[in-house]
Amino acid sequence: MAKYTFKEFQAEYPTDAHCLAKLMEINYGGTEITCPGCGVEKAKFHPMSKRRAFACQECGHHVYPAAGTIFHKSRTNLTKWFFAMYLMTSTRHGVAAKEIERQIGVTYKCAWRMCHELRKLMSSADYGGPLSGHVEVDETWVGGVNRKGGKGQGKRRSKKTIVMGMVERDGMMRAGPVPDDTQFTLEPIILENVTEGSAITTDGHLSYGDLRRTYRHTVINHSAGEYARGIHHTNTIEGHWSQLKRSIKGTHVQISSKHAWKYIGEFTYRRNFRDSHSMMFNRLVSAFALPRLVET
Ligand SMILES: [Zn+2]
Repeated sequence: MAKYTFKEFQAEYPTDAHCLAKLMEINYGGTEITCPGCGVEKAKFHPMSKRRAFACQECGHHVYPAAGTIFHKSRTNLTKWFFAMYLMTSTRHGVAAKEIERQIGVTYKCAWRMCHELRKLMSSADYGGPLSGHVEVDETWVGGVNRKGGKGQGKRRSKKTIVMGMVERDGMMRAGPVPDDTQFTLEPIILENVTEGSAITTDGHLSYGDLRRTYRHTVINHSAGEYARGIHHTNTIEGHWSQLKRSIKGTHVQISSKHAWKYIGEFTYRRNFRDSHSMMFNRLVSAFALPRLVET
């Protein structure tokens, strides 16, 4: 992966003003804009010292490039938010709130909140239209607490979250928690997210039984010891699941089912932009433009 080094990051965002200028660029296209106050075209806007705003040189009109974003009401410095974004996109396994607390120098409560806000943003990333080509579909169980004793398998499993994922060969992945793994739940998700006529490979789960009506569906029968047939296998998605589980265990120890969707979204995000760290970072920063687009 092309590395976005800490040195490069620091050079780009040394102060809050630099971070705010980035948000200005994302939301207004720069600091020379048509002023909403006086209407002057290409009016120069200058950063204000006491608030997260830029002021028009002509009329003094203020614009707030962080409005509608998680920064707006946050008292945490923008540089800290940006550093958290840098950290969360620069490791393969993600970072724990404890690590953010230590590296950024905020309270644990604040670090935890930052992590969760950023995970929410990653989870809402837009990966474009439906998947197509050759798509692997699979589901797995994550999280939950494994108690000692080894009995009561059913009970333990019920604390876990079922995650469903779809991934294009050499392409994008989508994944998220599902309430159950019945055909009633899984099939509509596939129909909505995978283009009709695509090739789909799954395991022998009965819930995938009717996919052949819409797709070129191949089943790999794991229970019969089969793991691949020609180009058909589910190794890509299964590789992602084991990485996800290793990362959760290594970084977070455990996650609650309530928050699972955010962790899954985070890992999907990192996986989809794994080829470029700077793109991963920039897409995250740019996500702060989204609430504004919804507003207008
Ligand atoms: Zn103006």
